[in-house]
Amino acid sequence: MSAKISVAILGATGSVGQRFIELLLNHPWFEVAELAASDRSAGKKYSEATNWVMQTPLPEKYSNMIVKKCETNLQSRIAFSGLDASVAGEIETAFADAGCFVISNARNHRFDADVPLMIPEVNHNHLDVVKFQNYKGGIVTNPNCSTIGLAIALKPLYDNFGLEAVNVVTMQAVSGAGYPGLPSLDIIDNVIPFIGGEEAKMETEPRKIFGSFMNNKFVDADFKISAQCNRVGVIDGHTECVQVKLKSKTSKEEIIKVWNEFKSIPQELALPFAPNPVITYFKEDKYPQPRVHRNLGNGMGVAIGRLREDSLFDYKFVILSHNTIRGAAGGTILIAELMKAQGII
Ligand code: NAP
Repeated sequence: MSAKISVAILGATGSVGQRFIELLLNHPWFEVAELAASDRSAGKKYSEATNWVMQTPLPEKYSNMIVKKCETNLQSRIAFSGLDASVAGEIETAFADAGCFVISNARNHRFDADVPLMIPEVNHNHLDVVKFQNYKGGIVTNPNCSTIGLAIALKPLYDNFGLEAVNVVTMQAVSGAGYPGLPSLDIIDNVIPFIGGEEAKMETEPRKIFGSFMNNKFVDADFKISAQCNRVGVIDGHTECVQVKLKSKTSKEEIIKVWNEFKSIPQELALPFAPNPVITYFKEDKYPQPRVHRNLGNGMGVAIGRLREDSLFDYKFVILSHNTIRGAAGGTILIAELMKAQGII
């Protein structure tokens, strides 16, 4: 068996960084060799630099690892980034210039003209763009956590019936705000009807993801999206109420069928983090729920329920997906697996 590929985690001490460590513990292809974060954490043992909040114990082999600075002298050629957006842009560019392949959760490079905004089940064909980047290494980005669940649910509808318009209202978990995130007195027993920048991300990212790459540039898909984003007192798992207007008429049964049958390249290649099924449709009116369904497919699956006709659009339904697994670290690991399977890394 060939040796595992060494990877670094940038922003290893944060909410997404911790999730990377947890998910990569027994990964068949990747081995976490380096942990990096800010100067506040660099030089400390990982267990001292981070406040571990995952539900599994901090793996012993990482607790004594010394956290490094996010400087380009790291040995690993692949870096998973869970960096804060205030610093991610420059640090990720420096790593890519130095020959590293950076797969990022931060927003900074998502709309660069030569950077794919990647969900492997949805737009794997955009990955080729990495070959034309002017970096010695490369950058690929993961979309926003709520965009990912939405785009996966929309993909079978887009392919089979065409999409004209989407309206989405989110109920997003507190872990999406990072660690320590919101003060408890703001969020317990409360709903906050604003998440800075989130609505703009949800209204633009899906159009790049569903768009095409032609004549050396991304051309957005032409459907319209309106989003309203709310923070709710749930720890993990984003719920989204969606209305869609389709280009061609179809039935409820046909929609459920295309969701249940949806598979893509990650499932065909049987990539280690590819969920199968990708989408699970629940017939019970009370589902999906974050506490019950966020770990479907090891946190990589998308739960959908409550499909019904809509008096303004054609149909409406509810989506649930895990924001720090499918929507962040797990989604990024799946991108790296696809890049390896396609010989890019
Ligand atoms: P977080 O908990 O606040 O963690 C941020 C990380 O960035 C920490 O490791 C922190 O290190 C590091 N950092 C901060 N300033 C730095 C600097 N000057 N130099 C180097 N490292 C620095 O945030 P998060 O929730 O994990 O999110 C990380 C990124 O993923 C963000 O860009 C976020 O928008 C995105 N994202 C998050 C989610 C989610 O559900 N949480 C989902 C999708 C995408 P120290 O501990 O040393 O300060």
